[in-house]
Amino acid sequence: MGNLATLKTAKTLETDEWQLRVDLAAAFRLAARYDWHEAVANHLSLAVSADGKKFLMNPRWKHFSRIKASELLLLDSDDPSTMDRPDAPDLTAWCIHGRMHANVPQARCIIHLHPTYATAVASLANPEILPIDQNTARFYNRVAFDMDYGGMANTSEEGDRLGRLLGNKQMMMMGNHGMLVCAETVAEAFDLTYYFERACRNLVLAYSTGQKLHVMSPAVAEKTAQEWEADRDQFKSHFAEMKEILDAEDPSYAD
Ligand SMILES: [Zn+2]
Ligand SMILES: [Zn+2]
Repeated sequence: MGNLATLKTAKTLETDEWQLRVDLAAAFRLAARYDWHEAVANHLSLAVSADGKKFLMNPRWKHFSRIKASELLLLDSDDPSTMDRPDAPDLTAWCIHGRMHANVPQARCIIHLHPTYATAVASLANPEILPIDQNTARFYNRVAFDMDYGGMANTSEEGDRLGRLLGNKQMMMMGNHGMLVCAETVAEAFDLTYYFERACRNLVLAYSTGQKLHVMSPAVAEKTAQEWEADRDQFKSHFAEMKEILDAEDPSYAD
């Protein structure tokens, strides 16, 4: 009986990397819970080194609902032999996340998904998240847009291009593709992803009525977005609460 408890304690105390593994594994389980995942595709990654070049990412083609902290790949964006490893990551994951961790310092945690509503908005000729409620206003003028989809992102040049396009923003609407969020922590990236998808859901539902949208003025949209940014502690509680729910229902993500 003592063995399991001892093992868990040892892992928890081992390194800061272990806590990062647990947080990222929780985000995978939550993404599956919210149906943001797609089959065994899509990727979440998290820098573990100060320069961001060493990072954790999901093993290739494993369902998000089964991912465990101990199974996350530890990769180095400077290691050219990565794709020769027996446990090599998904190629598009390596091309996008490897290059972004190498080039974009604020991208500690990168969440790249094709969630239903964000992907529907990404499929529009104008994929802008118009400020029509509090959630959509959170993203006002804060999203980069990639309008040059050119097929699967399977070259490092494509990862470099996406990194340049992101610039100093945290969110990208990937036209004809999906979305990408990056943040300092898993908690913030998870919260941004949650609200990004909620915002897109409201936008799609509002469009679907066929009625004219009541779009906020730029001044009110900007004020609302700044009010979101001033409320920095809520996202930490959001993620902590969701981890509590996972712990009560299925704590195996932290194994
Ligand atoms: Zn994708
Ligand atoms: Zn990805």
